[in-house]
Order: sequence, then C-alpha cells, then structure tokens
Amino acid sequence: MFHPNAMGTGTLTIDTAALAANWRALDAKSTAETAAVVKADGYGLGVALAANTFAKAGARNFFVAVAKEGVALRAALGPGPEINVFSGHMEGDTAHLRDANLVPMLNSPEQVARHQDSLPGHSFGLQLDTGMNRLGIEPYDWQPEMANGATLVMSHLACADEPDHPANAAQLNSFRQMTDGLTVPRSLAATGGILLGEDYHFDLTRPGVGLYGGLPFENAKTVVTLDLPVIQTRVLQKGESAGYGCAFVAERETKIATVSAGYADGLIRAMSGKATLFADGTPCQLAGRVSMDLLTVDVTDVDDVPDTLRLLGPHQSVDQLADVAGTIGYEILTSLGQRYNRIVL
Ligand SMILES: *Cc1c(COP(=O)(O)O)cnc(C)c1O
Repeated sequence: MFHPNAMGTGTLTIDTAALAANWRALDAKSTAETAAVVKADGYGLGVALAANTFAKAGARNFFVAVAKEGVALRAALGPGPEINVFSGHMEGDTAHLRDANLVPMLNSPEQVARHQDSLPGHSFGLQLDTGMNRLGIEPYDWQPEMANGATLVMSHLACADEPDHPANAAQLNSFRQMTDGLTVPRSLAATGGILLGEDYHFDLTRPGVGLYGGLPFENAKTVVTLDLPVIQTRVLQKGESAGYGCAFVAERETKIATVSAGYADGLIRAMSGKATLFADGTPCQLAGRVSMDLLTVDVTDVDDVPDTLRLLGPHQSVDQLADVAGTIGYEILTSLGQRYNRIVL
C-alpha cells in the first residue's frame, strides 16, 4: 500500500484514463485520423505509458522527434503501429530506421537523397516548410514528384495557439498550393490546428500537448497531479529570512514548511517567490528561492499542515504554474524530473 507520507520525494500521479479521454476528445473533433505525438518521453510522462494508453484508445500512428526515441517507442509498442520521425533521416539514423521500422519525415533534398541511397524501398514521408522556417522542404526546393511513394506529406503551424493570427491562413494556403492534387495523405494540424477547424485537418492530425492536459486544449482533462512531502516546519519571527540569498523576509510571524523538490525536479528557479502550492486546497505561497532539492513555503494560514503540499492538479494546471514562471505548460511537463515516485492510475 502506498503512503505518501512515507516517501522522501514527491509523488507524480499520472491519470491514464484522462490521457485516453483527451485523445478520444481530440479524435472526435475531426473526421481525419488522429495520431499521437509522444516525443520527449511522452512529454515527460513516460513514452511507453503514454503510447500504450493512446494505442488502447485507438491510435495507430505515432510521432517522435528523433530516431532514437522511435527505437524506444517501437520496443514499447511492438510491431504494427506506424512510428514517424519529425527530424527525418539524419546521418547515423539508417540502422535505427530500418531495424525499428520507423518512417522518417524527410526535411530537405539532401535527406531525400540520403534516404533513397541508404534505404531504397523503405517508407518515408515528407515535411514541407510552409512559413515557420524551422524544419521542412522549402517551396523553392519542392517538386511534387518527390511525393511519389510517400506515406504522408506534412507541415507544421507556427501560431496555431492564436486562432486570429494571420500566419495560420497563410500557412494553410501555402500547404494547399504545394500539395493540392497529390494522392498522398496530408497532415497539418497539431493540438492548436485541430481547434482551428476542419479546414486544417486534412487526413491525419498530430496532437501532442492537448493529450497531456495542456493548452491550447482548454477542455483537456487533468492528467498530472504532483504532491510534495513536507520534511519539516518552523516558525520565523518578523524580520527573519528563509532560503538562499535571504530572498524571503518574514513581514509577520511566519510558519515555513520545507518541501522535498527543487529545480533538479523540474521546478524551475524562475518560480522563486511566485508559485503557489496547496495545502488541502488552501493556497500557500512559495517563500524565497527554489533550491536544487527543496522549496520553502509560507503555511502560516494553515493550522494543520498536511503531510504533502500539492503543486499540480485540478487546483493548478501545468499552464497556470508555467504562467507564473514566465514559460509554457510544455516546458513544465517535459522538465518533470526522474526523482519522483510515479503512480499510474
Ligand atoms: C511537437 C509537434 C507536434 C505536436 O504539437 P502540440 O502543440 O504538442 O500538439 C506536432 N507536429 C510537430 C511537427 C511537432 O514538432
């Protein structure tokens, strides 16, 4: 039996029913096939856990960033599901692509040539640059014949989380111009693109962050709960300080709880003095700087300090926590450390 108060490190609880529900909810928003993006170790939650949950929910198509991630994903999923690699076919990837049966999304004429030379007959897709200027074949390099034999032609939106941004329509238009008339399946939308509406869906959508409970999918179910154990509490007199740099100074008699987690666990230092933790639902301010392994929290207004304080959960989403630290939910999720006890629901 699991007792949170018996643990010296935080407990990260991952709700697989919520993961599956988020995949189904995004899948229901289009008639296109819905893939699952599980790069960066399934956005920090564990690639095998995430991918198998989505596969059980119905996903047959997966995306990772690099071939090495594809190898781990193939081991987790077994043969059958399609695994696509955004970074395409890099030098040194050939054996991984072949042995794990991965489909590279080729990003340049050089990658197309490398793929044809080193793995003739092996499946491939193409990634086109429609204006983001990050990855993909440029319009001036693009020839529709390149798509002969491809399993997918895709591109990626730069501003899909801002529905009114003119780049969305411009990229859609550019994608159409480059691919209309092809008989190869097409893909443009990640989470944000799905929410932009069916013009953006084409044949396959590629949600990532929304599956894990992050914006811009506002109706996502909460996937991650993070509870941090209180190691000790103490009372500071007015004028005493807490933590590195004496950055917190008590303006009244203040009860401080010292909690086991820090920036080595992904609780980035930019949260210092700003983040809120919850004691059975009561908000408590982070007092002073985030240390490598510890936080100090002002629990003056909590009579009975519980064994754990909650940082992530229904009270506070990854995006709300990200906001106070000047970042985005993606970075909070993918930074979650390896020290937590991970509980899978
Ligand atoms: C990360 C990524 C996705 C998934 O994006 P989300 O915003 O997390 O849904 C889709 N396509 C590409 C090319 C990506 O890099």
